[in-house]
Amino acid sequence: MSGSNSEDSSSSKGRYACAACKHQRRKCKLDCVLAPYFPSNRSREFDLVLELYGVCKVTKLLKKIEESRREEAVRSLLWEAEAWEQDPVHGPLGFYTKLHQENETLKIMLKQLQHQIKCFHMGRGHRRIPCLIMPC
Ligand SMILES: [Zn+2]
Repeated sequence: MSGSNSEDSSSSKGRYACAACKHQRRKCKLDCVLAPYFPSNRSREFDLVLELYGVCKVTKLLKKIEESRREEAVRSLLWEAEAWEQDPVHGPLGFYTKLHQENETLKIMLKQLQHQIKCFHMGRGHRRIPCLIMPC
């Protein structure tokens, strides 16, 4: 390796530019922080994240995070970007609201089933006692 201004030491020989560098029309260096997470074939994912956060913010964020957790962070960014793509009004809140409603429905169903089981045991399984609290 030669000095820091040598192109050979900083360029990525035999590797395509990552989606971020390709987008910015710059040379993808070996130490490009985005290259492992947004290779050239993941430009759609990169575009989604770019639209929401911008290259600078994503790069700064990834540099702050230890390398072992960056993949997880990128998945999280991508999940949020896809949520905004699918629901431009609510984004992740739309997913949360839907899951919250499903959870509430399931809680009610569980309560009804628990009540039915209780009624079943009270009737000893063969003689049904009419339930006055909740229809079962
Ligand atoms: Zn790059």
